[in-house]
Amino acid sequence: MSVEERLQEVKDRIAKAERYSRRPAGSAALVAVSKTFEADDIRPVIAAGQRVFGENRVQESQGKWPALKAETPGIELHLIGPLQSNKAADAIELFDVIETVDREKIARALADEMKKQGKSPKLYVQVNTGLEPQKAGIAPKETAAFVALCREELGLSIEGLMCIPPADENPGPHFALLAKLAKECGVEKLSMGMSGDFETAIEFGATGVRVGSAIFGAR
Ligand SMILES: *Cc1c(COP(=O)(O)O)cnc(C)c1O
Repeated sequence: MSVEERLQEVKDRIAKAERYSRRPAGSAALVAVSKTFEADDIRPVIAAGQRVFGENRVQESQGKWPALKAETPGIELHLIGPLQSNKAADAIELFDVIETVDREKIARALADEMKKQGKSPKLYVQVNTGLEPQKAGIAPKETAAFVALCREELGLSIEGLMCIPPADENPGPHFALLAKLAKECGVEKLSMGMSGDFETAIEFGATGVRVGSAIFGAR
């Protein structure tokens, strides 16, 4: 299958999952995860109409996205990987959505940089729903307090929550937990679901699914 065919298949599966869950068509956005792929691999996907992309590294993204964004207006680029505070300025410059706000230090660095640059990308808080030591994210029971700190003390508007469930577990309970936390925090967007489980995530209310290998192929 070509990359265009794989993209179409993913879009069809998203539409079907929306119907199955009696959700409005288009209520689960596709974030095409292009990490490790070159600009030339990404161009056909842009040409096929995809505008929302996700990358997990700031430096890698700086090598390809400024040119791709200049070629096509309307690209929305999401940072979906861990962010170091010394990369906050670069991240604010390039990304339209930062999904991985995961500690106070990075929230403060982003708030400072947003003021300096006069730019305000949308921000999501990453939640470590499985409490995995090697994984980034705020603990579920600290999420509400962290969102409140971002909003009240740092003046950041937090629009969503994001999670990556443990690879070896049924993702459903993790998606349900993220949806419950979002409700408690008054947060609208839910970034959850990847190539292996995006239909499940849509059932649990995902507003954005991050799909890489099902579109671009194995990394
Ligand atoms: C790589 C990545 C994805 C996409 O994973 P696939 O299994 O290739 O769809 C989604 N979310 C995050 C945070 C990632 O790093």
